[in-house]
Amino acid sequence: MNLTRTVCPYCGVGCGIMAGADGTIKGDPEHPANFGRLCSKGSALGQTIDLEGRLLAPQIGGRDAGWDETLDLIANKFSTAIRDHGPDSVAFYLSGQLLTEDYYVANKLMKGFIGSANVDTNSRLCMASSVAGHRRAFGTDTVPGTYADLEQADLIVLVGSNLAWCHPVLHQRIAEAKSARPSMRVVNIDPRKTATSALADTHLRIVPDGDISLFNGLLTYLADTDALDQHYLKHHVSGGLPAITQARLGDPLESGLSHDELEQFYQLWAGTKKVVTVYSQGVNQSECGSDKVNAILNCHLATGRIGKPGCGPFSVTGQPNAMGGREVGGMANMLANHLDIENPDHRAKVQEFWKSPTISAEQGLKAVDLFEACASGKIKALWVISTNPAVSLPDAEGVAAAIANVPFVAVSDIMARTDTGDLADVLLPATGWGEKDGTVTNSERRISRQRAFLPAPGQARPDWQIICDVAARMGWSDAFGFSSPAEVFAEYVALSTATMDFGRDLDLSIFADADYVNMIPTQWPQNDKRFFANGGFYHPDGKARMLPVSTPKASARDAFTLNTGRNRDQWHTMTRSGKAPRLGAHLAEPYAEIHPEDAAALAISAGDLIELSSPKGTSILRALITDRCARRQLFAPMHWTRQQSSAGLVNNLAISVTDPVSGQPASKANQVSARKFGAV
Ligand code: SF4
Repeated sequence: MNLTRTVCPYCGVGCGIMAGADGTIKGDPEHPANFGRLCSKGSALGQTIDLEGRLLAPQIGGRDAGWDETLDLIANKFSTAIRDHGPDSVAFYLSGQLLTEDYYVANKLMKGFIGSANVDTNSRLCMASSVAGHRRAFGTDTVPGTYADLEQADLIVLVGSNLAWCHPVLHQRIAEAKSARPSMRVVNIDPRKTATSALADTHLRIVPDGDISLFNGLLTYLADTDALDQHYLKHHVSGGLPAITQARLGDPLESGLSHDELEQFYQLWAGTKKVVTVYSQGVNQSECGSDKVNAILNCHLATGRIGKPGCGPFSVTGQPNAMGGREVGGMANMLANHLDIENPDHRAKVQEFWKSPTISAEQGLKAVDLFEACASGKIKALWVISTNPAVSLPDAEGVAAAIANVPFVAVSDIMARTDTGDLADVLLPATGWGEKDGTVTNSERRISRQRAFLPAPGQARPDWQIICDVAARMGWSDAFGFSSPAEVFAEYVALSTATMDFGRDLDLSIFADADYVNMIPTQWPQNDKRFFANGGFYHPDGKARMLPVSTPKASARDAFTLNTGRNRDQWHTMTRSGKAPRLGAHLAEPYAEIHPEDAAALAISAGDLIELSSPKGTSILRALITDRCARRQLFAPMHWTRQQSSAGLVNNLAISVTDPVSGQPASKANQVSARKFGAV
């Protein structure tokens, strides 16, 4: 059996895979992300590539239609909406599952040709707060960490990150490094005890959103114990004094930790030179997520613990190509190549490169705002590509109603039935993993090729091609005349080279002569170049910024705090992972974890159902009684859709509270009431 080198389509670790058309799946021993390792999800990919449930032909109003008729209709509906209501009356909603080439053409079309920035992505739910934090601190959204840093660190601090379930191969790499070097310390900071806590030497159970108190306390401790790097602060950082002054106003005990726990953690951090702080959704998915990120970055900047091997803050991305999307400006507030949409020089350069008739001068609508604009009637034509917002966004029922309120909705997907697709006027059959070619970038900025090893089923087409076909019908055939993903990638590389004079270091010139077909996984800017190694950052003065960060005001929480997240063996709304029987066997039904004392207070016994309610909706879940959750806290996975279990949909409980800087929803701290199902 010939095996094709490709990349896992699940999490942001971006493991290399060798795959065969017969369903053979092996870890790629030569891929630097995993060196042959795979987790349960990746190794079960062979069970997910059948055609059951696939969308195999374009559909208009529920009937099969030809491609020409369907593409003409979409182009006509979008053009008419733009003519009658302006460019901001249309929107695209994309996905971190898309390949970089898909992202690139969608953003080029919306920002450079339609003239709106209403193109956002489900990556907004994943790491938008990290993007905002990086931009504030570094001047660009640049992730400094690498996977090798995790193995070289003497202390790894995992904050709001259940790596064991959500980035399992990174967890394996840390576990192996710790086993080989027992002096390595791991601290897990999380309100919930998780599988990751088992790896840690210490689990610090903070209260929800207690991170800022904890890290402001660390900054204060570092200042008070003469543990700051004064030379680094003087030459490479500004804003240190105001940040420390602000941090002193907080009380670290508000983190929920005891004095002893804080003292021990602070001593360990201050006494260890090589510290990597890894963080993900527990930090990002908060109404103060951007400030949490900057509270972490402040501590690394104040001590010069950045830009060195085994050292630095490291935001790990949730989705396989969240990073690639960011690189090509895949969010409503960015331009390609880490350029700023609100900077006139950046806009002019990109427009000149694209030779486009216009370029959006303002940020577009971020995910939650975008669907609120659908609800209010502002959006007249919406195209959802490779994602299921009617399940995955907070206030899922409200989002479904908002989509239904849009006069024209197109959905591109691999599946014939999704909760969002059921609301569409037009369905477009997209090729899926194993059938399409392109590139993805993982959490450590490594660009790898996804390669097809299966034929496109039915009439399915790759997303980049569908987008270009619509653009051509809207009158822009020259700018979207790509005939392959290699040509799209080449244009993106050329754009990166053309905009190098803005000093962004997103230099892809190493790919200029790359053999796209045989491209090997490559980190940018270069394999041997470490970001910030020379102490230079991307603000105009070349310095990083420490930001004064305030402790969030504790809101009155007399209800339960519901934390939503992932299971070990499922992915998002289970479109793909739900097909694998082995994965379904892990945790087979919707559930909510509840502390034993809370369960007793509600007269809930093992196996009972628990009913959770918020002003937005109700969910009925199996009660899983465990001390993994602290008192008055619950955890429920977000995978189940209406089609699988209408009672198990948990995002219908969430109110659309977002971080005011990043627009990322606060999915970790939903306020709900709870009772035994059936109790009166
Ligand atoms: Fe796929 Fe992530 Fe598992 Fe690697 S760790 S096999 S990328 S799901």
